[in-house]
Amino acid sequence: LIQLVDLHKYFGDLEVLKGINETIKEKEVISIIGPSGCGKSTLLRCMNLLETPTQGQVLFEGVNILDKKVDPTLHRRKMGMVFQHFNVFPHLNVMENITLAPILNKIMTKAEAEEKAKGLLDRVGLGDKVYEYPRKLSGGQKQRLAIVRAMAMDPKVLLFDEPTSALDPEMVKGVLEVIKSLAITGMTTVIVTHEMGFAREVSDRVWFMYDGVIAEKGTPDAVFNHTQNPRAIEFLSQVL
Ligand code: ATP
Ligand code: MG
Repeated sequence: LIQLVDLHKYFGDLEVLKGINETIKEKEVISIIGPSGCGKSTLLRCMNLLETPTQGQVLFEGVNILDKKVDPTLHRRKMGMVFQHFNVFPHLNVMENITLAPILNKIMTKAEAEEKAKGLLDRVGLGDKVYEYPRKLSGGQKQRLAIVRAMAMDPKVLLFDEPTSALDPEMVKGVLEVIKSLAITGMTTVIVTHEMGFAREVSDRVWFMYDGVIAEKGTPDAVFNHTQNPRAIEFLSQVL
């Protein structure tokens, strides 16, 4: 579904991505782990063109999305992104938050978008918050809203950047449950996370990033239990 070919990203003189070559298949769940500043967020942001890679290619369904002829907006619609700080719109209620983009982009009628939103809200346990405003929601509820909003566009892949890092501990589980339920129903998922238990249990593959490269990768068992990479061993000894 997504192919990263010799991807490099510089911020000025700082080389943050130093040649990433990876393929993400449909329905795969990939967890990206690694120390702070190693380039995890930058890699995710390059996938949906929130950052423009300096060199290399990002192929989405075989199309190089860095090609000038590709409309980044159309591309981004196929990729739902959920951030650490649940960027929901404070002045819109839950229903409006979810249906705004599908209606504006004429992907669905208002009635269709609302029906879909209700179904998704039920699925994540927010069925009783349809007309609530975000300020009345807990952090965990806001993050579940952000996930529903991403899902409302029928994306082909969901990208998560530390979706639970800003949450109070008691909220983390509910949000991870939602992500897990989407993942096991076949949603292609790429998640940057510090939740090692989640990465171990839910992902098909784990990428360990270090200093701008994917220094180790494999099944959760291979990465967590059998890595020989000294950087990965050191990192895991600190977080496990
Ligand atoms: P964390 O775990 O702390 O979120 P990360 O692995 O996501 O870290 P990135 O956010 O990708 O790391 O940042 C990688 C490096 O790129 C860091 O040194 C950071 O300071 C730098 N960087 C990121 N975004 C920018 C930017 N817009 N301009 C300049 N430098 C940047
Ligand atoms: Mg980050």
